[in-house]
Amino acid sequence: MSHLFYQTSQRRPLLDQARGVYLWDVDGKRYLDGSSGAMVCNIGHSNPNVLDAMRRQMEKSTFGYRLHFETEASEQLAARTAALCPEGMNKVFFVSGGSEAVESAIKLARQHALAVGQGGRWKVISRSPSYHGCTLGALAITGYAPLTEPFAPMMRAMPRVPAPRAYLDGLDPADPATGAHYAAMLEAEILAQGPDSVLAFVVEPVGGASTGALVPPVGYMEAVQEICRRHGVLLILDEVMTGAGRTGRFLALEHWGLSPDIVVLSKGFAAGYVPLGAIVARDDLVAAVLEGGGFLHGFTYAGNPLACAAGTAVIDEIARLDLVQNAETMGAALRKRLDGLAARHPVIGDVRGLGLLMAFEMMADHDSKAPLPAHLNAHQRLVDIAYDMGLIVYSRRTRDGIEGDHIMVCPPLIVGEQHLDEITDTLDAALTRLADELAL
Ligand code: PLP
Repeated sequence: MSHLFYQTSQRRPLLDQARGVYLWDVDGKRYLDGSSGAMVCNIGHSNPNVLDAMRRQMEKSTFGYRLHFETEASEQLAARTAALCPEGMNKVFFVSGGSEAVESAIKLARQHALAVGQGGRWKVISRSPSYHGCTLGALAITGYAPLTEPFAPMMRAMPRVPAPRAYLDGLDPADPATGAHYAAMLEAEILAQGPDSVLAFVVEPVGGASTGALVPPVGYMEAVQEICRRHGVLLILDEVMTGAGRTGRFLALEHWGLSPDIVVLSKGFAAGYVPLGAIVARDDLVAAVLEGGGFLHGFTYAGNPLACAAGTAVIDEIARLDLVQNAETMGAALRKRLDGLAARHPVIGDVRGLGLLMAFEMMADHDSKAPLPAHLNAHQRLVDIAYDMGLIVYSRRTRDGIEGDHIMVCPPLIVGEQHLDEITDTLDAALTRLADELAL
């Protein structure tokens, strides 16, 4: 009997060890980590340089409470992180994970509004579908009914705009009119809410698990930034999943040359070695909050030196191994292979993503984009079949199937062609078995 509990009663094998792109359970079975956990382990498992850096920090100190001490480790990681962000974003606030980081971004934005005499601004617009975390504040801006509905009475309802799922709406994502169309929905929502009441727009630059690696249509992100600026709405980029090289740039915002007000980081930022997240904010925004009395926010473990030492070592390894470039190169190679799978398996209706944030969506019908019947639970079945075969991929369990059966294929950024072959060969066999089982 286990004393642990998680989302469901499903039990998984005990993990024994993990190295590079592989994990082994206690029975010696090997798994290829085709999803980097939950798009976390960007530099692979058990990187010796990161472990060394952690050991060195452990011998110095593992905790210094932020009201008593600053540490070299946190100062260093803050400087390294700021250097990777757009100009004028030099202020870093550490937390222990993505949900905490999103909460922190929202609260910083609100305190900034108060500090500059715009206390009427409190509404945070986000997209649907989207995922920004599981704590009540982050959940309030998450556009994903199966997760939010039970807690709705406990949260302040926040406005949503549709995620730009051009492929479902029959629009061409390469046509600038498509990007303009979805961006116009944001402006319409800001106007409907009353611009003076809107605090921020929070957006995943490339959609994560809720939309299955949704890449924005051409012009969308730039238009969204311009609309936010024009209406005095802060732009918060949730790069929890897209950051740390995942999309073939250190930050996904680099694809469009964006300069947001706040960037949110976690997951690949410490790549699973320790719990760590951060927000990086514009200097003037933080200055206004600090001059206005200070940021009323902070977690006991914020800026933990062990976590920060690991974070710096991860950034070093990303640079040393040229992983941002590898994400771009291997991402293109993976897409080719997934397109090949789509040609052989009619159930694959869409392949999408950027860098190594890749996904495919299974559908009943390519033309109408009709989803597979929800009761088949096809995405979870495929994940389970692949798992049996020694490949880990990721999907989100949906209650009603409206979000589609998408599978995230997001291996660590250290993958080579041989790993991609292993991933696609296993997926090929798993899709064949799925089609047999479900009579697709
Ligand atoms: N934001 C995004 C885009 C995410 O993908 C996630 C997690 O999947 C979160 C926030 C929440 O992060 P965490 O699970 O570390 O709290």
